[in-house]
Amino acid sequence: MHLYLHIPFCRRACHYCDFHFSTNLTLKTTVVESICREIDLQANYLKNKQLETIYFGGGTPSLLNMNELYDIFETIKKHYTFAHDIEITMEANPDDITRDRLAILQRFGFNRLSIGIQSFNDNHLKYLNRIHNSQNAEDCVHLAQEMGFENLSIDLIYGIHPLLTLPKKEQNNSEFTQGIHQIWQRDLEKAISLNVPHISSYCLTIEPKTVFGKWLQINKIPPIDEEFASEQFDILVSTLADAGYDQYEISNFCRDNRYSRHNTSYWKRHEYLGVGPSAHSFNGESRQFNISNNPEYIKALLLGQVPADYEILTPEEKVNDYIMTGLRTKWGCDLNEIEKLVGTKWLKTNEAVLQKNLSQNFLHLDNQLLKITQKGKLFADKISSDLFLV
Ligand code: SF4
Repeated sequence: MHLYLHIPFCRRACHYCDFHFSTNLTLKTTVVESICREIDLQANYLKNKQLETIYFGGGTPSLLNMNELYDIFETIKKHYTFAHDIEITMEANPDDITRDRLAILQRFGFNRLSIGIQSFNDNHLKYLNRIHNSQNAEDCVHLAQEMGFENLSIDLIYGIHPLLTLPKKEQNNSEFTQGIHQIWQRDLEKAISLNVPHISSYCLTIEPKTVFGKWLQINKIPPIDEEFASEQFDILVSTLADAGYDQYEISNFCRDNRYSRHNTSYWKRHEYLGVGPSAHSFNGESRQFNISNNPEYIKALLLGQVPADYEILTPEEKVNDYIMTGLRTKWGCDLNEIEKLVGTKWLKTNEAVLQKNLSQNFLHLDNQLLKITQKGKLFADKISSDLFLV
């Protein structure tokens, strides 16, 4: 079983970020108290009481102090046992990674760090409004390794066009684009040289409620250039493949089978409990979505209630979830599993779409296992949604 904790605080708002967080840290300890209350209230959500993974995400969970971590772990231990090989991950920002903090994390049993580096280029980091610089990014990886954190992941963003305010004709200048591609290539080479076993890399997206979303509305920046982004995706995939990384999910790469066991559990549709504002949970039959508002979350928990919406999944929705997540992974989707859920309905409904994708070499079917091809990965979301049941 798997536990996710959402810590909804950050020191600074990154211009692209659409996650739930607050930069006002005054409620941090109170939210932690509420999270502990939620862990108590949800003690029976997971049938199996042995945890295989715990993931502290956010926001910036590396902002938690020792007392807050202590309270959280003591509450978790009241209800669950830990598997002998449990994976305990902390998402951390480079500016929070100090020798003392790493020692504290080790004392609590953290054995994996997911570091939000995003770029090794100072101009790009400034453009994204990240709080750290490229030297901090590199130093924190070395420090974590020196302190014995071998299971490290770093996040990198591609599709960053930092000079988007240039006149259109200069943006389209192919030399300029090549220069940006070189920066991306250098970011990847830096990541490889740091010898981290796991890299997550997502394309920059512009979400309406973010600073970039507002800039887009007033034409301060143009929309993401799909062709540019897909060129960067190609550079990502080929560079990491050459360096021996396995693309086990469209945006996730690892060496030596260092998969994120926690995230893989989502993609394989295992049950998990998510606690904290905006966290989601899944118990095989239904999904739960916690409220994305810190004061409301605290208020409800004080009254002994979990402020969440619930959705019971129909067999069709379970199939759609499976297609959407399974096709993004190297393990693909087992058509026998789909048949168990909805009989032959999926195959009958989607026969033509399936054949079209197979003939265009976007999908590959072997022994009832449906997988996306390298060519199809660029269009994974569209391919999946075309195969949904309505
Ligand atoms: S990207 Fe991470 S650090 Fe930046 S605002 Fe979002 S959650 Fe906070």
